[in-house]
Amino acid sequence: MGDHISKDEFSATDVRKDDISEDRAEEAAKRAAKKTVKKEPKHGGKGNAAVHRMWTAVWMLLCAVLLIQIWGLNQRIEVLKERMDRLARIAAQQQDRLEELTEGPGQDGAHGTNGAPGEDGRTDAAQVSGQGIVGSQGFDQNGQKNGPGGQASASREPDAAHKVYLTFDDGPSANTDEILDILDRYGVKATFFVVGREGSQAEDALRRIVEEGHTLGMHSYTHDYDQIYESVESFAEDFEKARDYLYEVTGVESTVYRFPGGSSNAVSHIDMREFAEYLDSQEIRFFDWNISSGDGGSFLVPVEMLIENCTATIKDHGTSVVLMHDGTAKSTTLEALPEIIETIQAMEDTVLLPITDETSVVQHIQWKSEGQEASDYNR
Ligand SMILES: [Zn+2]
Repeated sequence: MGDHISKDEFSATDVRKDDISEDRAEEAAKRAAKKTVKKEPKHGGKGNAAVHRMWTAVWMLLCAVLLIQIWGLNQRIEVLKERMDRLARIAAQQQDRLEELTEGPGQDGAHGTNGAPGEDGRTDAAQVSGQGIVGSQGFDQNGQKNGPGGQASASREPDAAHKVYLTFDDGPSANTDEILDILDRYGVKATFFVVGREGSQAEDALRRIVEEGHTLGMHSYTHDYDQIYESVESFAEDFEKARDYLYEVTGVESTVYRFPGGSSNAVSHIDMREFAEYLDSQEIRFFDWNISSGDGGSFLVPVEMLIENCTATIKDHGTSVVLMHDGTAKSTTLEALPEIIETIQAMEDTVLLPITDETSVVQHIQWKSEGQEASDYNR
């Protein structure tokens, strides 16, 4: 029987049914198995493999899509978190503002000046043109004699006989990150008067300034004296551009300004009081300085001199606004910063603070008309 079974008719099932000898059955089974193996690739096999591959591809594609979606969601969450933070900050700012308004009159007296107009007020331009190193003494002569009594009455700033405000002009720069690292290391908050620098690196620096609790101040958009001081209109245009840009990037509305060259600059042909009035109309307070590091010039000031300039006269002031520069070329400012901070932190009854609404202004010019409540700050 088995002998007659042709290859084609034979199957493993048949073998089990029939009484053929075991090795025949084995042989037949092998053949059958071969046939099945052979058959598969011949007919449905290739198709199956292709289908299999297709499914694998589909699954992989699905997985990839899912991963991308998850990644996208994560990004979105990050963005939302950032937005929440910004909103929280804006809310806090508005809360502060509201509190100020409800606290009634007297608070507005912050717009005084701390001294007579400085005859020798150095300007950035003057420093660049090589007038030499400007020591802190240069601005002591500006008559910044405000004592501890010169601070806002309802101050939430910590009490201390000497309040020191480190300020960095002209950033962001390639040095901003390192300045922020140093400030962070010492737990110090400072104030950055920035210009309109665009690009992702600058924007990251601006956001970091805000996120780490420093004060973001304006220092014009273009820092172009001729353009800014050409007229009140062009000043206003530059100011709005700076304010809007910072708000766009950081979500913070800056409320402090530093004039390029200071309010005592010798560059503007228009009376600086006009620009001061304009800023006041925009509810912006401007800050000059009463201590200069001297790093505004075109050459590098030695580290030791910077430390001396920044710290020697702090004891003479209730409020010290220290002028420094955040510029790529200012490498010695970076080198000196740790010791400047250490020296100030070692001083008795002295605190390092960022400029806030409570900070007494330090201004080189007197611009409020007579009778306005600026007298508190002329003590
Ligand atoms: Zn400047």
